[in-house]
Amino acid sequence: MFDLLTKMDNTSSMLLEKTLGPRVMFYLVFPSEATYQHVNDVPKYTQLAIPHFLAMMFIEAIILYAQNKKIPPVDDTINSMTHALLLFVFQILVLPIGVLSYSWVYRNYCVYELPWDSPWTWWIAAITVDCGYYWFHRMAHEINLFWASHQTHHSSEQYNLSTALRQSTVQQFTSWPFYLPLALFVPPSIFLIHRQLNLLYQFWIHTEVVSTLGPLEWILNTPSHHRVHHGRNPYCIDKNYAGMLIIWDRMFGTFQPEQDRVVYGLVHPNNYWNPLRGQYGGYWELLKRFCQTEGMRNKLCVLFMGPGWSPGKPRLGDGVPEVEYDPSQCYHKPTPRWLEVYCFIHFFLILYTMQVLSGRKNELLVAPLLLYCVLSLTNIGLLFDHHPFSPMGEVLRSSFVICLDLVTMGTTSTDLMGGVGVWILRGSMIMSSCIWLMLIIKLICSNNNNKEYKKL
Ligand SMILES: [Zn+2]
Ligand SMILES: [Zn+2]
Repeated sequence: MFDLLTKMDNTSSMLLEKTLGPRVMFYLVFPSEATYQHVNDVPKYTQLAIPHFLAMMFIEAIILYAQNKKIPPVDDTINSMTHALLLFVFQILVLPIGVLSYSWVYRNYCVYELPWDSPWTWWIAAITVDCGYYWFHRMAHEINLFWASHQTHHSSEQYNLSTALRQSTVQQFTSWPFYLPLALFVPPSIFLIHRQLNLLYQFWIHTEVVSTLGPLEWILNTPSHHRVHHGRNPYCIDKNYAGMLIIWDRMFGTFQPEQDRVVYGLVHPNNYWNPLRGQYGGYWELLKRFCQTEGMRNKLCVLFMGPGWSPGKPRLGDGVPEVEYDPSQCYHKPTPRWLEVYCFIHFFLILYTMQVLSGRKNELLVAPLLLYCVLSLTNIGLLFDHHPFSPMGEVLRSSFVICLDLVTMGTTSTDLMGGVGVWILRGSMIMSSCIWLMLIIKLICSNNNNKEYKKL
């Protein structure tokens, strides 16, 4: 009997261990599984989740297909994933300001040190990190200076799991102060665990596959609640800021249940796929508005009032126009199937490069390879925009990698991409530059002055 109980115990603990990866995506984790004393020991949950992101997106597409619904468009999906990779590049290049500032405050101003290994500390941190996220997210919508970065997340006119990956690279510079009150009592390692789990929880709620979840809708942030947050219908504006718990919106008066069909995206849609513009275009628009507005008081209001504010209007503006649900209005340029496949392949090559790059910050080739990643991601966006420069961009970025490879061949740095990977990368870059050179010549010979893609 005792043996049987021990066996059952072993089986359940093995099951728990094996399912930790998927459970992390839903915050279904116990304190005993995710408690660490030191910041450096905390797993990089967001990086470990990459295979789960891809698997869940694949499953979502199958369900949508089975439900006879439109599967996520290739251009929008790649664009969303591109923003995630740009964030990854950014995180390699800049210091983790959120954790550093938090640790500094904890070291110098901690009022009461909650024990790092207590389940109470773990649960208190889970709730307070979520509250911090609510206020950061609310300010990201209500202060134009913060909105300039957060608008990247709202720039998709679709709503699916890939939309969750559309993250701003510079948002971390505005979010960190909202978590500092926690540093007065919660250890940095526990904060870092929940900061990641909170972010990962928000992945699965970006879907139309799940309608409503009954009584859970009262407590949790759900797909239905977050669909409202991504809407540009007047009833959706500035609502449902929650991360994991919707109770904050209910408490602070920003809750809105889902009603009419939600039309997703920005009030003024971007209408481009250029990811760099998608990341930093908000700041460019803000700068233009700042320069065009007269009077210092009004200029400051442009920065610190809501995005809908203009002189004479209330702090958050006075409403947005009604919109009708019409998927044909979403930004999309007809792209040949072969080009979509090409972009997918190159996207995954970039993803592979990123994987290799993580943890190799000091190697000689990292900086040029990061440049390759950013150039490639940007040009994929330009290809979907049918930008006239994009075919030449493909030749240039492929040539860049080939030159880099030739220059470093035989040096110790050549093994950066690993044996098989480097050959795949070499082969695909040589092939790409040849294909695009041929296409450009064909374009010139056919006197296609408009450089239209469908004629390529
Ligand atoms: Zn938002
Ligand atoms: Zn979202």
